[in-house]
Amino acid sequence: MKVTEHIAQANGNTQFSFEILPPLKGQDIKSIFDNIDPLMEFKPPFIDVTYHREEYIYKEQENGLLKRQVVKKRPGTVGICAAIQNRYKVDAIPHILCGGFTKEDTENFLIDLDFLGIQNVMALRGDAVKTETYFTPEKEGHEYANGLVQQIHALNDGVYLDEDLQNTSKTNFCIGVAAYPEKHMESPSLDSDIHFLKKKIKSGAEYVVTQMFFDNQKYFEFVEKCRKEGITIPIIPGLKPIATKRQLNLLPHRFHVDLPEPLILEVIKCKDNSEVKQVGIEWCIQQSKELQKAGIPVLHYYSMGKSDNIQTIASEVF
Ligand code: FAD
Repeated sequence: MKVTEHIAQANGNTQFSFEILPPLKGQDIKSIFDNIDPLMEFKPPFIDVTYHREEYIYKEQENGLLKRQVVKKRPGTVGICAAIQNRYKVDAIPHILCGGFTKEDTENFLIDLDFLGIQNVMALRGDAVKTETYFTPEKEGHEYANGLVQQIHALNDGVYLDEDLQNTSKTNFCIGVAAYPEKHMESPSLDSDIHFLKKKIKSGAEYVVTQMFFDNQKYFEFVEKCRKEGITIPIIPGLKPIATKRQLNLLPHRFHVDLPEPLILEVIKCKDNSEVKQVGIEWCIQQSKELQKAGIPVLHYYSMGKSDNIQTIASEVF
């Protein structure tokens, strides 16, 4: 079922969903199931699976010269989606990127998803890889998520890249896109970011999932701004419980989000990470309850591959 249909069927009740990462290459899928199993009692209507681009490493050869090697640390997004749908009978949502994909790669990827009965996709640009200063699309790829949304929407209308294939079959994907209550790191302003978000929606996106935030006010203000700009589709909040002291520096650096002063002070006071985890759980429960009270249709949790804290939060909230 489509995310929009799940929301419509919930009759205003707040639903629980979460995102997982494919395991590191070489690990098996059991680690994924071990994390998902305890969360199934909260009846997630859908589970997102992230997509990870290849990275480049430089290896020294016998002649002393460095050779560039392409590695993919977390392959398996599509396979894991298929396994989730098969094992849990819930909708799995693969993330799909502009980065690393030509338009033809995208078309073939979408055909695979369609064959697997996947009905939702999260369309994203992706970030620059470590060796790039700025995001660089493939020569025949999309520069922004908007182009990717347009391509997925076109395939829903039976428009293929190859003219001979037009209208042979149509896909039926519900398209999700990303948004940033504290603005995207590259964006000159929140208004500019919302301007481009509107473009993605005009191109066919049907729901939005936000970057994590730790101050609900930022989300509420963002939603209000979007509504004033005429955005009417669901804006699903993304939530992440802080779990380690290191994340005090890592999260603002990597995701360009602010941490509220009271949360920072609570984390600094902690003796070890088990105490930090408890602080993160309590903070996230408060955030979740306030969002639930405001009638938000879905709360989406970033599990980062660990589910015990999400389980504790969900058992308090749902
Ligand atoms: P876009 O919508 O293309 O926007 C990127 C930037 O360009 C923004 O600053 C926007 O304002 C600007 N912009 C857009 N269009 C134009 C235009 N026409 N001209 C000028 N500027 C423009 N990354 C992964 O690698 N894998 C994942 O699985 C993944 N999952 C994610 C899930 C969520 C919910 C979120 C919020 C992010 C996720 N990301 C993931 C990270 C995401 O790929 C990065 O944040 C990326 O930098 C931006 O992606 P986007 O789709 O928002 O890009």
